[in-house]
Amino acid sequence: MGCFPRFFKSRAKPELAPPPYSTLDHDARQQVVAKKASNSKQVFFGRIVHSKSLKHLEIFKQAALGIDENGVICFLDSSVDSAAAACKKYPDFKEAHCTTLKPLEFLFPGMIDTHMHAPQWPNMAIGMEGNLKEWVEGYTDPIEHSYKDTNKARRVYDEMVQKLLENGTTMAAYNSSPHWEATNVLADMCLKYGQRAIVGKLCMDCNSTHGNIEKTEQSLEDEWKSVEHIRKIDPEETLVSPCIQPRNGAFATPPLMAGLGKMSNGKPGSKKIHIQAHMCETLYDINQMKKLHSGSKNYSEMYDSYGFLHEKTILAHCIHLSDRDIELLAERKAGVAHNGNSNTCLTDGECRVRELLNAGVKVGLGTDCSAGYGVSILESMRAASNVSRHLVIHKDDPSLKLNFEEIVYLGTMGGAQVCAMDDKIGNFETGKPFDALVIDVGQKDNINIAGWEGDDLALVKKWVFMGDDRSIRKVFVNGRLVAGKDM
Ligand SMILES: [Zn+2]
Repeated sequence: MGCFPRFFKSRAKPELAPPPYSTLDHDARQQVVAKKASNSKQVFFGRIVHSKSLKHLEIFKQAALGIDENGVICFLDSSVDSAAAACKKYPDFKEAHCTTLKPLEFLFPGMIDTHMHAPQWPNMAIGMEGNLKEWVEGYTDPIEHSYKDTNKARRVYDEMVQKLLENGTTMAAYNSSPHWEATNVLADMCLKYGQRAIVGKLCMDCNSTHGNIEKTEQSLEDEWKSVEHIRKIDPEETLVSPCIQPRNGAFATPPLMAGLGKMSNGKPGSKKIHIQAHMCETLYDINQMKKLHSGSKNYSEMYDSYGFLHEKTILAHCIHLSDRDIELLAERKAGVAHNGNSNTCLTDGECRVRELLNAGVKVGLGTDCSAGYGVSILESMRAASNVSRHLVIHKDDPSLKLNFEEIVYLGTMGGAQVCAMDDKIGNFETGKPFDALVIDVGQKDNINIAGWEGDDLALVKKWVFMGDDRSIRKVFVNGRLVAGKDM
C-alpha cells in the first residue's frame, strides 16, 4: 500500500493533493434554512403514490393526506373528493392549510440514500478509469485526507446537503472522513438544512494511504467525540443519528473492530448505535480482510465476531457473498445498501438483490458517491433495474429482474428498513412523519407525458426513468418545507 496506482505511472506528475475546492455559486445560492414546523395543520389533495410492499405500489388518483402541527401524518383518505371535504370530515382539520395538487402533480415519499460518502462530493464523475483499489488510493484517500481542513468541510457540506435535498433525498446515511471536527460539521449542516441523516466518523488504523491511518485509540476516541456531538445537537434523534463507521475489515485491525463493536452495542439494554461499513465489494477486498482477521472464513462471521451485525447495521455493496453470509445477514437483520451505479463504474460485480430479498435480507439503495456518479436516488433505482437485467442476461434467469414496483420500494421503504427507520419513514402510513416530495411531470423538461396524461402509473414511471430535480417542486422533512424548485 502507499505506492501510486498503475494508471498514474504514465503521468509525468501525479497529483498528490486534490485540486482546491471552491463552491462557485456558494454565495449566489440562496441559503434557505429549513422553516420551522408551520404550526398549522396541512391537508394535501390529489394524486398520491407510495409503496405498501415490495410488490404493491399504491397509487390514489385522488386522496387527501392530513398532517398535524408536528408534521405527523394523521390520515390518508381516498373516500373524499376535495381538500374541503377532508377538512369537513376531520373536524380537527377544519382550519388546516390546504393544497390541491395540479393534474400532473403527485405526492411521492422522500427518497432514502443508504450509502453516500460526503467528503467525496467534489470527486463526482472522476476516477472511473481504475479498479476499486486504484480509485481509493488515487482519488478517495487524498480527498478524504483534505478534510483535516474543517473550513473545507463547511464549504463542501453546506453545498452538498442542499443539493441532495433538492434532488429529493430526505434521508441519507453518510460516511465521513477520519476527522471528528469535519464529521461534526456534516451533522450540523444536516440539522441546519433539515435533512434526516445518519452520520459517523470514518475509522481506519491500517492499509490506508495519504496520511489517513489513525492510531487505534485515537480513532476510537474521535469516533466517540462525533457520537457525543450528535447526541448533543439532536438528543431525540428527530433528524440526525450517530453512527459507528470502520471503512471495512481490511482497513480496521482487530482491536479497532472490537472497540467499535463495543461502542455500537453499548451497555446491556441500551439503545444500539447505527453501524455503516463496506462488505464483499471485491474479491481482493475479501482476501485483504482475511489476512488481517486471520481465522475468519467469511466477511459476515468476521463482523459478527465483533458484534457488528444487528438491526441497525448498514453494509454497502455485498456483491461477493457466500451462502453463509446471506444466511447470517438475514438472521441478524443487518441491511444491505445496493449501489448499482458505483458497482458498475468500478466494475466490482453485480449484487444479487433477488437472492437477498428471497432470503429475507433487508435491501435499500445507495448512490455511493463518488464511486457512483449519480447524485439522485432516481439514478440508483435505474441502476438497480439495469444491474438486475444484466444478471438475467448472464444467468439466463428472468426471475432475477427487478420490476418497477420493486425499484421504487427499494429507494423508499427498503431504504427505511435498512436504516432501521421503517416505523418512521418510507411511505405515507398514518403516524409517520411527513417526509415527502411534490412531483410535477408537467414541466418543460425531459419528461414527455403526451398521450399518457390519464395513466397514473405511466406518470410515475416517466418520472422515475426520465425525471430529475426539475420535477421536484417541494421537499418536506418532518412536515417542514426544506427544499424544492417552488420553495
Ligand atoms: Zn462506499
